[in-house]
Amino acid sequence: MTARPESPVPVSSLAAELTAAVSELQLPRRATEIDRSPAFPTAEFRALGERRLLGLRTAARHGGRELGLLDAAASLHALAQASGTTFAKLSLQPEFCSLLADHGSEELRARYFRPLIEGRLLVGNHVTEPGAGSDVGSLAVSATREGPEYLLNGTKSEAAFAVDADAALVYAKVGERAVSAFVVPQTLDGVTRSLGAPDLGERWMRRGSVEYVNVRIPASHRLGSEGGAFDLLKHELTRERLLLAAIYLGVGLASFEETVDYVGVREAFGRPLRSHQAVGFPLAEDWARLDAAWLYVERALGRLDRGGEVFAEAALAKRMATEVALTAIDHAIQFHGGRGYSSALPHERRWRDVRSGGIAHGPNELMLRTATGRLWPRDRPSASG
Ligand SMILES: Cc1cc2nc3c(=O)[nH]c(=O)nc-3n(C[C@H](O)[C@H](O)[C@H](O)COP(=O)(O)OP(=O)(O)OC[C@H]3O[C@@H](n4cnc5c(N)ncnc54)[C@H](O)[C@@H]3O)c2cc1C
Repeated sequence: MTARPESPVPVSSLAAELTAAVSELQLPRRATEIDRSPAFPTAEFRALGERRLLGLRTAARHGGRELGLLDAAASLHALAQASGTTFAKLSLQPEFCSLLADHGSEELRARYFRPLIEGRLLVGNHVTEPGAGSDVGSLAVSATREGPEYLLNGTKSEAAFAVDADAALVYAKVGERAVSAFVVPQTLDGVTRSLGAPDLGERWMRRGSVEYVNVRIPASHRLGSEGGAFDLLKHELTRERLLLAAIYLGVGLASFEETVDYVGVREAFGRPLRSHQAVGFPLAEDWARLDAAWLYVERALGRLDRGGEVFAEAALAKRMATEVALTAIDHAIQFHGGRGYSSALPHERRWRDVRSGGIAHGPNELMLRTATGRLWPRDRPSASG
């Protein structure tokens, strides 16, 4: 058991329910199985929905828990610490669709959002395209108004749940620079989906491409005002990046704590590993970095909860959390020696899963671009970075 002082992360108001879910659904074991035989974890998604552990932040009128940001972040951090990114990201899934909750019509919300919160329906996010990833300003997928409908054309790529999602939030150009977001059922005529090559980690997301050819979408499926999607996306990315940071720090903390325990008992050269400074010092540094990153995340969450604008801080937090967690997990792999590198222990899977955080939701370089956009506002960053 580690002797370090208590973690600065507050105890989630759902702590008891999360602990029960982790143990009754055997989430750590399932995370390993899902990694080895990747399929979308339908049963766990349903079970989390039944326990009202999807949509922690979602308004109660839509079936969510309506937790404050800090409480939701502490909950996701705890879930990630107990079982890795898989179920924490599932729990966060409705947050990725908050545009639908905040800006969809009552009909759309009833049709898509409630079942999503209940774990009965999966909604993807289609932003990235073959020619527009980091640079979301270069989208080519277009939505052309035709009377009461839009005609959607183009290809989205790199998308999670490419072949599994029931619907997707699709970002498409509606003018020279204007972009709108639409809820697009994936069973419509003209939608062709394909699974990409297997990923390094988080394989259960089963990423791939979706081609839209003359897909007819009712105008009522547009979210928010015409051409206003980037403003909405910016708001959504701020929340997402902070909550993702909480998840990555939870995973990093799990590997850190297991390593602190292990190096206290494993001996080499006649003494515990911890007494070799080359082992103890990096772990001391991980402790400081994990705590400091959390405190940074917590401060930004607090400002956002009070209505502040923290787009740049959220970007920096996502970058910092992925890097701090990856370093801690890398030390765990190293200090567990040969077994650390093997799938006998969870560290290698955690490393592969957290590694996605450096690219998804905007590559980490773009997070710095966002920060420079705050320091020198005239170098205006794009919606993603
Ligand atoms: C696990 C995972 C899940 C994902 N899920 C989804 C999803 O559900 N929906 C979706 O739409 N997309 C999704 N993505 C795609 C992701 O958002 C894009 O991969 C990301 O935005 C980068 O775009 P790109 O792949 O086209 O890389 P590019 O834009 O080609 O960039 C490649 C690399 O170049 C560097 N780079 C780019 N621009 C700059 C710059 N200005 N300064 C410095 N360096 C730069 C970065 O290192 C970047 O990683 C997912 C990706 C991953 C890994």
